[in-house]
Amino acid sequence: MNYQRSSQLFHEAQQFIPGGVNSPVRAFKAVGGNPIYVKQAQGAYLYDEDGNKYIDYINSWGPMILGHAYPSVINVIVEKAKLGTSFGTPTEMETEIAKLAISMVPNIDKIRFVSSGTEACMSAIRLARGYTKKEKIIKFSGCYHGHSDSFLIAAGSGASTFGVPNSPGVTQGTAKDTLLANYNDIDNVKQLFLENKGEIAAIIIEPVAGNMGCVPPKDNFLQELKTICIQNEALLIFDEVMTGFRLARGGAQELYNVDADIVCFGKVIGGGLPVGAFAARNEIMNYLSPIGPVYQAGTLSGNPLAMAAGYATLKQLNDNPNIFESINNKTAYLHKGIDRVLQKSGIDFTINRVGSMISVHFDKAPVVDFNTAKNGDNDTFKKFFHGLLQEGIYIAPSAYETWFITEALTYQDLDYTISAIEKVSKTL
Ligand SMILES: *Cc1c(COP(=O)(O)O)cnc(C)c1O
Repeated sequence: MNYQRSSQLFHEAQQFIPGGVNSPVRAFKAVGGNPIYVKQAQGAYLYDEDGNKYIDYINSWGPMILGHAYPSVINVIVEKAKLGTSFGTPTEMETEIAKLAISMVPNIDKIRFVSSGTEACMSAIRLARGYTKKEKIIKFSGCYHGHSDSFLIAAGSGASTFGVPNSPGVTQGTAKDTLLANYNDIDNVKQLFLENKGEIAAIIIEPVAGNMGCVPPKDNFLQELKTICIQNEALLIFDEVMTGFRLARGGAQELYNVDADIVCFGKVIGGGLPVGAFAARNEIMNYLSPIGPVYQAGTLSGNPLAMAAGYATLKQLNDNPNIFESINNKTAYLHKGIDRVLQKSGIDFTINRVGSMISVHFDKAPVVDFNTAKNGDNDTFKKFFHGLLQEGIYIAPSAYETWFITEALTYQDLDYTISAIEKVSKTL
């Protein structure tokens, strides 16, 4: 494949944008080489500036569950744009998408829209602290909740009590209020509650982790977290930015039958435009400004184009719930196919999957938390990534990311992918 124009564009971008990118993982630093510059996307495919075509397994990191440039989504964006793109006043569509989202997701009465998943998680934590009048939070190593200060805390050892900031600029003061636990380790969580009695406002978790590859919660893990929260008058926050409107109509709460106290959304809820949201029952949401004391705001929150794109996407999912089964089946088919060809190749691997989230790890041992996720062989992953890119298959340029399956993928695409993986596996 020829990447000449992408290379030129990246070279130029680096002079004007730090690292050439507006979000670090796009830079291919983990796998080496230069990023591809995408010119257009349609359905399951990306087309880059050099005219190469790829089957897309990232799908904008999750939002494009229906496929790229989905007609009902594009049409409504175009129609709405003609009416003006931002008013700074309430619009009817905000209530429409709120009603629809609340009807799809269990256990929420009200929802507030923001412009990113980062904002959703950041605001959810403030709300939890305001509501409980406590300051500390528990997060799990390897979970990502956006780039706000409280969440950029390094994975310490399992027993580490106080977080260590892993980005300069995050103060010790902020870091000390974020307690780290190991994913799937309930004793670790219990220990933190014992050591910080009466001080923990909330546990925030990706109910299916997707930012260390895909790591499913162990049986009853989420239920046990809920029980611990009830016992300690803390709130359980599900960060469903990835899982919401993907794993089921009602997301992970529905799939695992666990009620969270606050739920965060992003990605799919915006249908490819910048949208995040957080939601809870009335007693919690009524703590928000302007009716409650916890402040939160946004100039472009509830933006008319973004709301319309989100609404069209959710409506399609709501009216055709068979889509969830369909993408799950496609992902299961891919899972089986990859498993078969990698078995034959003799390399060590583990595949994790929940619904339409899947990841391939180059290590034999089960991947159940951040430590086991980090054991994967990164050199093998790099070769795997570049091998697939050459075959016209675009997966995330990092071993710590989940692949997102879109409804636009055909079984023919999946068969092609499996045979490409077979071919690439012989070079690993
Ligand atoms: C992507 C993601 C975020 C951050 O969302 P942005 O829109 O990138 O700010 C937060 N939580 C999870 C689980 C995510 O996957």
